[in-house]
Amino acid sequence: MTKLSVVVPCYNEEAVIDRFDEEIRKVLDGLPVEYEVCYVDDGSRDGTLGKLRRIAAEHGDRTRYVSFSRNFGKEAGMLAGLREATGDAVVIMDADLQHPPELIATMLEHYRQGHDQVIARRTREGDKKLRSALSRLYYRGVNNWVDVELTDGVGDFRLLSRPAVDALLALPEYNRFSKGLFSWIGFDTVHFDYRNAQREAGETKWKFASLLNYGMDGLISFNNRPLRIGIWLGVSLVALTGLYALWITVMAITNGIDAPGYVTIIAMIAGIGGMQMIMLGLIGEYIGRIYYETKRRPHFLVKEAHGAPVAPAPAEP
Ligand code: UDP
Ligand code: MG
Repeated sequence: MTKLSVVVPCYNEEAVIDRFDEEIRKVLDGLPVEYEVCYVDDGSRDGTLGKLRRIAAEHGDRTRYVSFSRNFGKEAGMLAGLREATGDAVVIMDADLQHPPELIATMLEHYRQGHDQVIARRTREGDKKLRSALSRLYYRGVNNWVDVELTDGVGDFRLLSRPAVDALLALPEYNRFSKGLFSWIGFDTVHFDYRNAQREAGETKWKFASLLNYGMDGLISFNNRPLRIGIWLGVSLVALTGLYALWITVMAITNGIDAPGYVTIIAMIAGIGGMQMIMLGLIGEYIGRIYYETKRRPHFLVKEAHGAPVAPAPAEP
């Protein structure tokens, strides 16, 4: 029989975790699979870990959890969950019931038809108008820049086959932008839509600033094309300056020397200075990533675990 692992990163989810666990087991018990639920407590500061201990005590062999020494972020949480999972297929989902558990049945059907990635894509009904418009705009723009395909509404809610999970685990990078990684590994992929649900309880961990940062990650994590903008900007600027100098010379020869241009000079200094700063920032962003990658720190530290220990990271080549 197929074994299904459900990976659930949780950060301060004490308000919903019990409801989630109840619902997910109801669904999984009704499916023709063996299963395990792998929780990852991402350094919660509320009673989440206590609740996980209780859940593990009650459903011992079908539950694993790891608890981080501090908050390492959802990306690290998902990574830990994937390492922890032993199933033939793994479903990743949020703890707040925004990912309807009953969709696992649909995912399983697609998996049985031979797909390696089954992605549940949410419609943006009920989202704030501004946020969904901005998201759509972002995804349209970003896909012109990055090599992997990023799709609006596609999050982390998905089923991955064992080969796909192993492929993900073999990627050693420290900065993990999962949306891109999922797309980068490829494999036979299928999408289906579901209606967006509201969070059941607790609150979202996304603030506007963190969304902006996430957007920047998406742009930079997968190629160095933004650096090219710098080159092209520079080339255009040099060309423009050349033309301008030529024009001034011609004017001086025909009309005699004249020295207006105070505004032009200020505008150019400010414009060029701004552009240089943006480009420096961009270069710094890439160097920063190199810095983090070269440190080779672990993605997370575990302070407590239940079930099999988390598989160590794959050996370095
Ligand atoms: N999460 C996490 N670590 C974090 C932030 C979030 O493990 O640092 C988990 C969170 O507990 C939830 C999921 O990631 O299960 C999605 O978080 P959230 O609901 O806040 O995001 P949203 O649904 O608003 O995008
Ligand atoms: Mg949520």
